[in-house]
Amino acid sequence: MKSVNRILEPGQLEAPAGEIPFLFLPGKDLFARRAERFRQLSAGHALGGYLSFLALLADAQQEALIDFPLLPLPTLAEQALSRANGMPLLAAGSWSRNRAWRGALTKILLQMGKAALPPATTDTVAGLLRASETRLEEIADRIVSGDLDRVSPQELPFIAAALQVYWVHLASSLEATAFGRLGEGGACPVCGSTPNVGMVHSRGAGQGLRYLCCALCSSQWHLVRIKCSSCASTHGINHYIQEGSNSAIKAESCDDCNSYLKLLYLEKDPGMEAIADDVATLALDMLMDEEGKVRGGPNLLFHPGSSSVGVGKLQASSRK
Ligand SMILES: [Zn+2]
Ligand SMILES: [Zn+2]
Repeated sequence: MKSVNRILEPGQLEAPAGEIPFLFLPGKDLFARRAERFRQLSAGHALGGYLSFLALLADAQQEALIDFPLLPLPTLAEQALSRANGMPLLAAGSWSRNRAWRGALTKILLQMGKAALPPATTDTVAGLLRASETRLEEIADRIVSGDLDRVSPQELPFIAAALQVYWVHLASSLEATAFGRLGEGGACPVCGSTPNVGMVHSRGAGQGLRYLCCALCSSQWHLVRIKCSSCASTHGINHYIQEGSNSAIKAESCDDCNSYLKLLYLEKDPGMEAIADDVATLALDMLMDEEGKVRGGPNLLFHPGSSSVGVGKLQASSRK
């Protein structure tokens, strides 16, 4: 007989796979919570101006999500087929995007156009409002296929923000049971994208368990701990923290494929948010860059290239 009241502590053996909620879909208030977290993190932060900008962008995303038109969703037969084949139901790379995502983009751009932005950013907003449908779709194709090096860093956050709204709208309109596990644990079961971080939950059914957070649709799916999300290796896994931090965020690296993914331990700071806390800990990315490690998945709102953002020299050290 199984005890339903069993409490899992971090580091203890995890429950059998059947008892673990494998997927948490994003809620309709996702971007409001993200905006609030960006605002909290911006105070006294070296990247405060940029975090405040992303708070405004998340506000605009929330408004676009609330106003999003109802779209046809995958049928029950399509849902069953994708589950049977272990394929993401709303695969970003192959899903036929509805033009409604560009409606969300226009709303976001118009709202951001009202804010007091630096002149270069105002020019970017105006340029995107004039851009042709063909050009916008080309940029979107590059983003959903992970080809971020070929996207202008100035345009990326706006286009990515609208694509996030679109996929969050779809994901939050379905039930978790619509989706099945993929053979590959490192890809999002909803849209097939890579995670930007992982989170170790501190309460509820996922307590003590690690969930990967989708960079595009913000769904969270379970992956056992101490396992590389990029290559599935379970050995040569090391953890790095930034000196002086409260170790709420660690970078988990893999010797086999040389990648790393940040892990957010909600027990240490329940207010953390996958996208906001990722951007705010760019210093940890710079530390990992110095270690020769590469990110396992991008943050679509911020893709600086290799160490190109001047945040000052880090006072960081690694601990394995
Ligand atoms: Zn996803
Ligand atoms: Zn690996």
